[in-house]
Amino acid sequence: MTEFPRPRVVVSKCIEFDYCRYNGSIISSQFVQKLKDYVDFITVCPEVEIGLGIPREAVRLVTRDDKILLLNSMNGEDHTPEMNSFSSEYLSGLKNINGFILKSRSPSCGIKEVKLYGQTGKVPAISSKSSGIFAKYVLDRFNYLAIEDEGRLTNLQIRQHFLTKLYTLTNFEMLEHKSGELVTFHSQNKYLFMAYNQSKLKIAGKIVANHQHNSIEEVFQEYRQALYQIFQSTSRIGSNINVLMHILGYFSKHLSVNEKAHFLEQLEFYRSKRIPLIVLTSILKSWSLRFDMAYLLQQTYFDPFPAELMDTSNSGKGRVNI
Ligand code: SF4
Repeated sequence: MTEFPRPRVVVSKCIEFDYCRYNGSIISSQFVQKLKDYVDFITVCPEVEIGLGIPREAVRLVTRDDKILLLNSMNGEDHTPEMNSFSSEYLSGLKNINGFILKSRSPSCGIKEVKLYGQTGKVPAISSKSSGIFAKYVLDRFNYLAIEDEGRLTNLQIRQHFLTKLYTLTNFEMLEHKSGELVTFHSQNKYLFMAYNQSKLKIAGKIVANHQHNSIEEVFQEYRQALYQIFQSTSRIGSNINVLMHILGYFSKHLSVNEKAHFLEQLEFYRSKRIPLIVLTSILKSWSLRFDMAYLLQQTYFDPFPAELMDTSNSGKGRVNI
């Protein structure tokens, strides 16, 4: 059984933790609920932290003189300076954070699709493509980490990417700074990285080889940057098919014609988005066990995060970044 670390994740407090929304309500998220057993959550409610009560009048983003302000939706009171200084100070004080789950569409916490208004009062929004003020600070400072909102995490592909990135980055940060540890990490992640970005996989491999004889600290720092780039976008179906075919090659000569045909048929179902990737990786993992392929069994591609967090439900909402 693979052992996984407990990532440290900052979460908007109104998601499953406290009744702190402007109207005194709480947001339910099955995913966050389930994650409580597997990650250490650090909760924050920026609006309460800047002194707004519960319940309170709603705030909104308003554009004025090319700036985006956080104003009381009705009376226009400006909370931007407090939110700016809270966000900056709070985020500077965070240590060893591996990810964020923020409340969707909130003018404070929303990472995207937040409504922007031209003024306060009963008027329609002029766009819905902004980030909340606190979220903007998070994105500017920690853009390399796993950051999502609870709404987008109902999408299977977005959720799997978030978990894969979160656990891989956490595993990396837990390595002791020894060259052997990095070699093993890179080798165990080979097929996972190949599915994400083959050219960045090669760059990471060169960093590990360290032909320039850089110090171990320099190597880790360079590798960290390569890792961030590997996870900049989700893995594509075509890249996953390439990896699946690579792995199939290990067993090819041991399989019957019918077994191979069945696998290739499933591959086509995956290509046409009729079944999820896990169907294929499960077949390959069971063959790795059957033929005792030690190198394959240590690949994180089969289990990039705890199996208990695997859930194939899919709202289909949210745009996937590829
Ligand atoms: S969205 Fe953010 S600011 Fe609003 S209630 Fe939730 S945690 Fe607080």
